[in-house]
Amino acid sequence: MGIAENLQRIRAELPSHVTLVAVSKTRPAAEVREALAAGQLAFGENYAQELRDKADEVGAGPEWHFIGSLQRNKVKYVVGRARLVHDVDSLALAEEIGKRSGATPTGILLGVNMGEAQKSGVPAGQVLDLAEAVVRVPGVELRGLMTIPPPTEDPEGAAPYFAELAALAARGRAAGLPLHELSMGMSHDWQVAVRHGATLVRVGSAIFGARAPKAPPTT
Ligand SMILES: *Cc1c(COP(=O)(O)O)cnc(C)c1O
Repeated sequence: MGIAENLQRIRAELPSHVTLVAVSKTRPAAEVREALAAGQLAFGENYAQELRDKADEVGAGPEWHFIGSLQRNKVKYVVGRARLVHDVDSLALAEEIGKRSGATPTGILLGVNMGEAQKSGVPAGQVLDLAEAVVRVPGVELRGLMTIPPPTEDPEGAAPYFAELAALAARGRAAGLPLHELSMGMSHDWQVAVRHGATLVRVGSAIFGARAPKAPPTT
């Protein structure tokens, strides 16, 4: 199936308050334009230079989201191009984004580490303290939380992690923190994430197809 059909199928099931972020990493600018022509506005990239290059190549139209873990020395490629940085995991990174953003604040989400096996993100027990600090950083606008749950074969296996992220954000909001956005859910489990309150889902292969197809068997 083509990109337009895939988008249509997902949109038919997606509640209108949830933003579909089409993850276009490794995909050429031409495919971004194809999705754009099919009415898709938000695109996600997880490498800073790739976001810079693709955003500049595609030009006006898309709204870019940076969804990968960001090194401080690469913030310069992302600020001014990305509308939302999904996976901020330290005060120092938030400060660097704020410094580079200047008078036009960049929206950020804090990436939460929900499982022992995860490499990135802030431990769930520390994220509200980090949010209290980040909310005071000039040049960034804290908007919510993001997570990538440990991989499970059954999409429902992600449900407890999504529920925990939603509960964390609710606790933060009760304490006055602006944690309104929940970025959770990917191609195989976005429906589960939506049921648990996702406001942004990050979907790549279900739109653009598999990224690294296995080589055909050679006999
Ligand atoms: C690649 C990626 C996605 C999309 O993954 P799919 O399984 O292709 O939908 C979502 N979120 C992050 C952080 C990613 O790196």
